[in-house]
Amino acid sequence: MYEIRFHGRGGQGAVMAAQTLADAAVRIGFQAQAFPYFGAERRGAPVEAYARIDTAKIRTKSQVYRPHLVVIMDASLLELEGPASGLRPDGKVVMNVAQRPEELDLGAGVDAECGTVDASSIALETLKMPVVNTAMLGAVAKVWNVVPLDAILEAIEDRFGGKLGRRAGMLNAEAARRAYEATVVGRTQGKREYVQPKRWLPVWDEIPIGVSLRKTAHVEEEVGPATTYQHHTGRWKWSTPLYKKDKCIRCLRCWWSCPDAAIVRQDDDYMRWDLEYCKGCGICADICPVEAIDMLQGARGTWQ
Ligand code: SF4
Ligand code: SF4
Repeated sequence: MYEIRFHGRGGQGAVMAAQTLADAAVRIGFQAQAFPYFGAERRGAPVEAYARIDTAKIRTKSQVYRPHLVVIMDASLLELEGPASGLRPDGKVVMNVAQRPEELDLGAGVDAECGTVDASSIALETLKMPVVNTAMLGAVAKVWNVVPLDAILEAIEDRFGGKLGRRAGMLNAEAARRAYEATVVGRTQGKREYVQPKRWLPVWDEIPIGVSLRKTAHVEEEVGPATTYQHHTGRWKWSTPLYKKDKCIRCLRCWWSCPDAAIVRQDDDYMRWDLEYCKGCGICADICPVEAIDMLQGARGTWQ
């Protein structure tokens, strides 16, 4: 049995990638399963999705802990716990990054064949949006010879075409084809030691009875339940809001609509943007009634 683990961000299509790979495997005679694992279900949050492929009926239903193949759809995930953890000694990695495999560090103990591809640029050029799942499947076909490119392209055209229309199916297949051609295959050796993330929830005997949860001290920091303080969501973004203060009528709509509380209301009711936490979703620009916010491609700055 082959086990595959996809690591992505909400909105990049990790779940569809796992389903499409399973679909492609079934087309060439395998049995397959695919399913996701979500934490916070929101755009930009880390997502895992799994696929299993076998010649016999698959009875295992657990998450994938010892993958034969790891697909990393966003380079910023390397800041979190090692996404290649548990990779088998003969396992392979496919990663969305512009660097070559030998320039990567996927964590201590990871010495693996690796394919890298700038799937984000391919997706932006081909699909006009940073949804990298189909480009990553093209790279998978190049690095991992279990499911060939033809079966993957067929599955993409059917799945995406059936859901989003024939043209979308063709464009997504084109993204996969381009990524297949562009993928650089090499070897990566990891040295990076991952530290355990800080425990931010209070333990049971710190929770006061019958009241809302309080802040608590942990490793010389004050943290509390529901805080996103430790998650620098601004590092996920593909576009950055540009505030045109002269147009702003101070209606506050952007301020209360931002899902990451990245817009800071000033004393005079004009706004500032904390770009360390703005994930570039564009909700503020959509909701502004006077077009005082433009979304510019790319990540910029820390404050504006
Ligand atoms: S783009 Fe706007 S709404 Fe979205 S996270 Fe950034 S500031 Fe908030
Ligand atoms: S939604 Fe637009 S007009 Fe309203 S406060 Fe925000 S930037 Fe200003």
